[in-house]
Amino acid sequence: MSFIIAIDGPAGSGKGTITKRVANKIDFLRLDTGALYRCLTLEVIRNKIEINDIPKMTDIVRNMKIEFVPNEDMDELDYVFLNKENVTKEIRSNEVNNIISVISSIKEVRNEMLQIQRNIAKEKNTIMEGRDIGTVVFPNADLKIYLNADIEERARRRYKENMEKGISTTYEEVLQILKNRDKIDMEREVAPLKKAEDAIEIDSTNMSIEEVVDKVVELYYNKFKKLKWLK
Ligand code: C5P
Repeated sequence: MSFIIAIDGPAGSGKGTITKRVANKIDFLRLDTGALYRCLTLEVIRNKIEINDIPKMTDIVRNMKIEFVPNEDMDELDYVFLNKENVTKEIRSNEVNNIISVISSIKEVRNEMLQIQRNIAKEKNTIMEGRDIGTVVFPNADLKIYLNADIEERARRRYKENMEKGISTTYEEVLQILKNRDKIDMEREVAPLKKAEDAIEIDSTNMSIEEVVDKVVELYYNKFKKLKWLK
């Protein structure tokens, strides 16, 4: 049986960076589930698929081949290949950010994604981050974290990242897109973003990356010890 750590939280709360660093420290498999929804969204845009064409969308999910290639730089997310093409940059464009939450709110799409995510964590200890990991994908996860931060701080982080990557946006634009995404993600009917009852909330507004990583690792070791004791 594998040990599952679920990390959920709003956009820009640092889930990606934290997940990568924690996985590295405790030798866990990591999965950025947002990248799966981002790849689907990119395909929808490129193939000009209508938002109400659910059969085409579920077909894409079933057939897309996504590979993660580790980026040795711990401050960078891993490279994402969609059907052998490096789409690392494309999946984080404003175009994708603008419609991803609408696509992610489709029930049939989420059902397809569910199996993919569950299969990945079957055999190896895994840390998975997203919006519904602790509530829907792995309701029995061994450790659940809800990572949060003030919206202005999250927008500042995203804006800074964009600047460093040469993606041209204004701070106001980033803030607005984050607000819209959070609203749709939290208010959708299927698998909305919310803190699982048994999740531990970490507010990273005034914390450094290292502080958050250390906290999650500490929570993992405490839980691991407890589970071993119970067996
Ligand atoms: O985590 P990231 O910001 O890359 O996620 C992008 C979008 O994908 C989210 O705003 C949300 O709409 C969707 N998503 C989701 N469920 C997940 C992961 C991401 O609905 N588990």
